[in-house]
Amino acid sequence: MITARYGIGKRKWYNTNMPIKVLPTDVASKIAAGEVVERPASVVKELLDNSLDAGATNIAVEVQGGGVRLIRVVDNGVGIPPEEVDIAFERFATSKVETTDDLESISSLGFRGEALPSIAAVAEVTMVTRSKGELGGTFLNIKDSAVVEKAKRGCPLGTTVTVRNLFRSFPARLKFLKSTATENGHISQIVTQYSLAFPEVRFVLIVDGRTTFRSPGKDSLREALGVVYGAENAKSLLAVEAGDGNEDPLLPHITGFVSPPSFTRATRGYMSFFVNRRWVQNRMLPYALEEAYRGLLVTGRHPVAVINIALPPQDVDVNVHPAKSEVRFRHERDVFTAVQMAVRDTLVAQAPIPTLETLYQSQPAPAPSTGPLITSDAGAQATSAMSPVATPPPVAPAVGLLPILRVVGQVASTYIIAEGPDGMYLIDQHAAHERVLFERIRDQRQRRAVEVQGMLQPVPVELTVRQQELLEMHGEALAEYGFDIEHFGERTCLVRSVPAMLRGQNVAQSLTELLDFVGEGAKSDWREGIAVSLACHSAVLAGQVLSHDEMQDLIRQLERTSNPKHCPHGRPTMIHLSAAQLEKGFGRR
Ligand code: ADP
Ligand code: MG
Repeated sequence: MITARYGIGKRKWYNTNMPIKVLPTDVASKIAAGEVVERPASVVKELLDNSLDAGATNIAVEVQGGGVRLIRVVDNGVGIPPEEVDIAFERFATSKVETTDDLESISSLGFRGEALPSIAAVAEVTMVTRSKGELGGTFLNIKDSAVVEKAKRGCPLGTTVTVRNLFRSFPARLKFLKSTATENGHISQIVTQYSLAFPEVRFVLIVDGRTTFRSPGKDSLREALGVVYGAENAKSLLAVEAGDGNEDPLLPHITGFVSPPSFTRATRGYMSFFVNRRWVQNRMLPYALEEAYRGLLVTGRHPVAVINIALPPQDVDVNVHPAKSEVRFRHERDVFTAVQMAVRDTLVAQAPIPTLETLYQSQPAPAPSTGPLITSDAGAQATSAMSPVATPPPVAPAVGLLPILRVVGQVASTYIIAEGPDGMYLIDQHAAHERVLFERIRDQRQRRAVEVQGMLQPVPVELTVRQQELLEMHGEALAEYGFDIEHFGERTCLVRSVPAMLRGQNVAQSLTELLDFVGEGAKSDWREGIAVSLACHSAVLAGQVLSHDEMQDLIRQLERTSNPKHCPHGRPTMIHLSAAQLEKGFGRR
């Protein structure tokens, strides 16, 4: 019986013990607060929304202890008149919406009147604010949602909100937070994205006393992008033009910047979308963007883009979720098409349509030499780690994982055909080489014997804010792999040495993509992630012609790995067609 199986019979039904009652306000507001304030970055986001709605042009964000100990947002906006300061902390108290009609066309970032009371329900909050025409400011201190102090206090025009001891009385929520570094990462992501949505506003982020980000505030999106993604990267972006200004104001209007097809990233993390200047998460928009690049990018590569969508407020519903980052469009198809067309037009007009060759060049870290893998010139740039001379097998052969294979030939310069005791094997040369290199570098690190390649000249590498954070977080792990990296001014580092495996590779590209890969999703093992990325960058590419000896050599090395049938990403390295399958296929049996 189903009920018994799920133990329903034993369950206590709450309504048998308690009558239905409307929850007391403090309980209700704590429940609601949980939806608005998921983590420290949500507090930062709500406070930024308020500062921007107040017309601030200068906003400083300060955080300590991942935002749990302290979050402070200082703005130079319009401030709050003294008689309204307490009301601002009441639930559903807002100056931005009055009637249900207003809800139909929201032009401010906030409108639910929920942020301040929600924050005050889960942390200690103080506010100092002064509005125009007031001589002094107002200070307000709130604990457990109740005003414990209200006083006059001198302060500049604008508002400062300080949030302390977030989730202190919510140990369950606190437990779900990740490391300080991860929470800082989320906060920094919010601030940098907002600096792209509001290039005219100067944002400063101070993390544990150190200024980690400062936007130019010059009303130039390209300049703002330069600070977030690096000046050189920003320079190469193509402007999605605003048109002649005569367009139908009722249609979605697209502006922003997109990367030319030659400039791609290995993750989808470089696409930002703003709808009426609100940073939004929407599954359809990245899809529409990538559709515009259809046929221009190699699989697995993604564009860099900032897309601003302006449309009549009544055509977009932002009241979908308490965090207001999801939106619904009234005419979704139109928005989709507008994004796709605007980007496609930009690409066609400004970027040359790549030939097969340029497509090939935009693949991840191509080796500078397309010549043979094994060169006699051992000191040359292009010496591959695959060379049997350079690298003897590091581990004892694992027995019985892969039968002895004889190479027959190569298909499409991508797959190796081999014959074994039980039929035919089709081996993906890139995946197979990845497996070999992954185990080699992993073992070298474990034995603390990573082969290192020093640079003749230190190589400056431009980093994004996120990459810089990741570099700081995982500097130690990178050093174990032979990276010698030095901090060198804002957004730049100097690379003095790399693992020898990266010999001949583009150091900047390898390092930035490694950081992106390591930062993607929640990696359980950073060190392994580094090894995966290094192997991926150094492995022979699909499309590269290999000699018979090179192929045989690769297969020998693959045989000795501990998991020859899968690449380190988990994809198969080979397809096996057994003798029986072949016979069956040809009707011999
Ligand atoms: P909402 O933003 O949805 O209106 P909030 O709870 O975030 O709700 O804020 C309540 C009200 O407090 C706002 O409507 C606004 O009038 C006022 N307020 C909050 N923060 C600021 C600020 N930084 N500057 C000026 N006014 C503010
Ligand atoms: Mg708000």
